[in-house]
Amino acid sequence: MSDAYGQLLDATIQHLENLKSRGVRHVAIAQQTLRELAQPVKNFPVQPAARIQQPPATPKISAPVQPETPKRVAPDLSPVTRHPSPDKAAAFAALRERALVCVKCPHLASSRKNVVFGVGSIDAQLMFVGEAPGADEDEQGEPFVGNAGQLLTKIIQATGLSRAEVYIANILKCRPDTPGQSAGNRKPKPEEMQTCIPYLHEQIDLIRPKVIVALGATAVEGLLGKTIGITKLRGNWQTYRDTPLMPTYHPAYLLRNQAMSEKRRVWEDMLAVMETLAMPVSEKQRNYFLKA
Ligand code: URA
Repeated sequence: MSDAYGQLLDATIQHLENLKSRGVRHVAIAQQTLRELAQPVKNFPVQPAARIQQPPATPKISAPVQPETPKRVAPDLSPVTRHPSPDKAAAFAALRERALVCVKCPHLASSRKNVVFGVGSIDAQLMFVGEAPGADEDEQGEPFVGNAGQLLTKIIQATGLSRAEVYIANILKCRPDTPGQSAGNRKPKPEEMQTCIPYLHEQIDLIRPKVIVALGATAVEGLLGKTIGITKLRGNWQTYRDTPLMPTYHPAYLLRNQAMSEKRRVWEDMLAVMETLAMPVSEKQRNYFLKA
């Protein structure tokens, strides 16, 4: 093995270790790169070494939280094993194709601008499920991009993850129509939820997240069939087909109710999720939304 190759390998391993210590669960690798990595090393050229950037300095992160709960799952931080297999990617792409041309709810198919299938990593450990697309999501074909979505993005980022590292989907893939109304949203109807939910089940089956966060009562109802109020259920671990599920408030509720106590409740739910995923939790994170 050449010196340059050894240095590159060390730098790459170091970089991956740094990412891992920051809670990153996977890295995106192009299929082509994966194929090349699988090839035996022949004459490694010295020149391209400069193309690999130095790994960024490791940020100061407080010690990982001690195991406190039996619900904590074994962390699988390996970027390689968490990379989607070509089969999985193909199955997911096929599922997406089916959903994009779905006309099972003719009234929604004719009123929608886009089917809002989902966004993020199909190899995510953490999956968020909301209710249904609103006007902004319908326009852009991506879940949670409006005001509530921006708040959800902030919540995700506060955990140290990015939208690209989690998966975000809805119970309904089409925007609920509001005939005769120029604006506003409505709750999905039971028959619409029943018709659409198989797509979400298949998404979850393929992604196999370690934790699901159900955002609001409709997400809980769609996934668990429970109609108990979200106020009673939030913060209490549930199980969706063997996967731990944390019900919490929908970000739209937090926009309507600006009380610090409600933000803190959602944050406590996220701390529980982080602990279950064995993610590092800093003192600063632990104290968000606590009064001084
Ligand atoms: N609310 C949801 O439940 N889902 C979205 O995608 C946007 C807003």
